[in-house]
Order: sequence, then C-alpha cells, then structure tokens
Amino acid sequence: MTEKLLTDVEYNYKYIDERIAEAAEKSGRKREDITFLAATKMVEPEVINHAISLGLDHIGENKVQELLSKYDKYNLDNCSLQFIGHLQTNKVRQIIDKVDLIQSVDSIKLAGEISKQALKINRKCDVLVEVNIGREENKSGVMPEQLEELLCQIAELDGVSVKGLMAIPPICESSQKISEFFNKMHNIFIDISQKKLDNICMNILSMGMSADYYEAILAGANMVRVGSALFGARNYT
Ligand SMILES: *Cc1c(COP(=O)(O)O)cnc(C)c1O
Repeated sequence: MTEKLLTDVEYNYKYIDERIAEAAEKSGRKREDITFLAATKMVEPEVINHAISLGLDHIGENKVQELLSKYDKYNLDNCSLQFIGHLQTNKVRQIIDKVDLIQSVDSIKLAGEISKQALKINRKCDVLVEVNIGREENKSGVMPEQLEELLCQIAELDGVSVKGLMAIPPICESSQKISEFFNKMHNIFIDISQKKLDNICMNILSMGMSADYYEAILAGANMVRVGSALFGARNYT
C-alpha cells in the first residue's frame, strides 16, 4: 500500500462528501439526511480504516468469505458494517453476529433463515428488501408487483426488522435513463411507505453507486453505496 493511495482516498472522500451535500441540498434535504456507505470489496482493511479515520461511518461487503477474512482488521468502533451482496441461505449463520444490516433480502426463504439465526443469538436483524427495478432476468431482487406480498410475509418474522428498500438498476447509457429507474424506485418506496404496513419501516432507500450516486440522491435516495469513486478502480487480475 502506498502513501499516494491514502492521499487519493482522502481527496476522493472529501469530493464525494461535497457532491452528496450538493445533491442533498438540490433535493431539499441536508447532508446529514444522506448515508454515505463505502462498498469495500477488494479493498485492503488498512485502506478502509483510513477512510473510517476521515469520518466514513458505513461500510458494506458483498461476499461472505471476504467479509470473514477481513473482519478482525476493520476498525468498527464508529462504523457500521453491512452486507450488500447476494446472500446464500446457507451462509447467513456465518455473518449474522457481525453485520448491522443486510441490504439484499429478496425471498421469504432468505428472510426466514436470517430470522432464525438472529433469534438464536437473541437479536433482531435489520434488513432492506432488494427490488429488481429493471425487471432483469438472472438478477436478484423481488419483482415490484411482488414486493408488498413479500413485505407482509417478512413482517411476521420475529427476528427480522425491515428498514427500507435497496435497488441496483440496469447499466444505462445515459444519466437520463438511469434517473428514470431511480424515480420509479422512489415512487415504489413512497407508495409502500404510505401503506403503513404493520411491522414494516420505510426509512432507508439505498440506491446509487460511483457513476450515479448524484442522480440517485436527486431522485430520493437517502443511502448511496460508493466503491470505485472512493477507492479507485478495482484490480481484478
Ligand atoms: C460494488 C458495489 C457497489 C459499488 O460499486 P461502484 O461502482 O464501485 O461504486 C454498490 N453496491 C453493491 C451491491 C456493490 O457490490
């Protein structure tokens, strides 16, 4: 790890923080209304901890193995650790005592397992329900028309608390196209909020990544998940 990388992360952190503040204001809110979560896949714990020392207070991993291998090295005293990737039912047990929130619940089977494992350690686990807003085949997330039914089923589980919704829209060529998906998602979020379903809380709308967090906030997101714009491009080789 080089000094240069840490300096870059510092510069990027401040830049993103300012852009979030600007988008928040433009959409009639304040900087503190928006949660900046850093997506930390393939980022070394030392670099993550540097970002935490700058004020970053939410991080998200998307792979169970990676989370477990880095877990002892994160400095989580003032930072929430969340799970943001696709979660297999048989791996819930491995992370249930380590994460504050699971963002990617899209089936009653997964929610049921989270509830069961949470109750085993006398806890309730906060979750977001992931919506497949682009109706893409082979992509996670519940279809929009099945969302309410899934929420009502999850509401019956004692070990799970729904806190809101999450979405990953399809890759789009233009910021106008992506904004359409974000607006659609915000409308669903508002519709469901207004139904005031029992035991369902709609506080969090998690959408927007490095390329489009600004547009997501303008459309109503109050949590963005930013990886490469903060830590630099991931090296997959
Ligand atoms: C990696 C990841 C992100 C961030 O992606 P970037 O384009 O690097 O900002 C956001 N959400 C999820 C679920 C991810 O896996």
